[in-house]
Amino acid sequence: RFEGVTMAPPDPILGVSEAFKADTNDVKLNLGVGAYRTEELQPYVLNVVRKAEKLMLEKGENKEYLPIEGLAAFNKVTAELMFGADNPAIQEERVATVQSLSGTGSLRLAAAFIQRYFPDAKVLISSPSWGNHKNIFNDARVPWSDYRYFNPRTVGLDFEGMIADIKAAPDGCFVLLHGCAHNPTGIDPTSEEWEKIADVIQEKNHIPFFDVAYQGFASGSLDTDAASVRYFVSRGMEIFVAQSYSKNLGLYAERIGALNVVCSTSDAALRVKSQLKRLARPMYSNPPVHGARIVSNVVGDPVLFDEWKQEMELMAGRIKNVRKKLFDSLSAQDKTGKDWSFILSQIGMFSFTGLNKAQSDNMTNKWHVYMTKDGRISLAGLSLAKCEYLADAIIDSYHN
Ligand code: PMP
Repeated sequence: RFEGVTMAPPDPILGVSEAFKADTNDVKLNLGVGAYRTEELQPYVLNVVRKAEKLMLEKGENKEYLPIEGLAAFNKVTAELMFGADNPAIQEERVATVQSLSGTGSLRLAAAFIQRYFPDAKVLISSPSWGNHKNIFNDARVPWSDYRYFNPRTVGLDFEGMIADIKAAPDGCFVLLHGCAHNPTGIDPTSEEWEKIADVIQEKNHIPFFDVAYQGFASGSLDTDAASVRYFVSRGMEIFVAQSYSKNLGLYAERIGALNVVCSTSDAALRVKSQLKRLARPMYSNPPVHGARIVSNVVGDPVLFDEWKQEMELMAGRIKNVRKKLFDSLSAQDKTGKDWSFILSQIGMFSFTGLNKAQSDNMTNKWHVYMTKDGRISLAGLSLAKCEYLADAIIDSYHN
């Protein structure tokens, strides 16, 4: 009976790690998945996470089920971290927050909510975007279309195209926006551009849907990276915000994040939350507790919170250093005079190199550099020591 099941293709991002593992050449470099590595290219568990776990062990916490909406202490601190504790939306209890299975789980839960309560609505997704966005909405049976975002000529934001496409879409769409450190391009709108984006979204009665997977990783400051979201809230808009602690706390495998829905009234927030719980219950019943306790211990404790910010600055700083070194290496080693400065203007974990699929294949097949086929490389997986090798690989792939 299972004879008719066909083979699924490998995942475009996680499949890269599988191929990397199978490569026996020592020079190999995994720049596929966006996971932070040390200068020695080893995975990194934050000291604050170790400390929070030690505290948890000492307290001897139990393993009872959490409520469907998750750990109350986590939901409180996560919303405060996103919006600011003094935000009127928080003060007036207008935010419905549900603990989720990290960023992906938040997006999937929101997609199920859209499918049920806004069956005629479409989601607008930037072109390009994180590869899983389209899968998530496809599987939830939510229609979507692209809006222009990247201009290959300027290697910058196609702001006019973006605005035109958001305007041309039918009224009442959900507009998926990357709160900071756009994946894969590393290009964010300026604050003036965010204002204009908010104007068109309001004019068109669209609903902004922020995906925030890198709070703290774009600028190094948690508050600065939340500015886009807070600005939309300050304009009185109702918004969705998906949050993830995979990157900024290095809790990839704990699957910890949240879905926040900012509503116009506290009453509406209560009702929205009740429906999110209703959707979550038959899908996964209730979320896991371990990561939620880590986050609430770190964010909820002033000493650990400060330590976290310092560790995050170190991680973000290491990525900035390799970004600079890669730029220097490319500029020094490339004899064609090509301008590589776009690498410096991109932010976050990634660099969008502009390499096409064939060139990306060359990176992998000839140079053992593993990356996604859209030309994205994760600088979080690069060391200073490997920059010159990578520059050689990129130059060879670009010009041949
Ligand atoms: N959104 C974006 C834009 C991402 O880059 C990622 C992680 N790669 C996620 C969401 C979700 O990651 P996670 O499910 O691990 O939180």
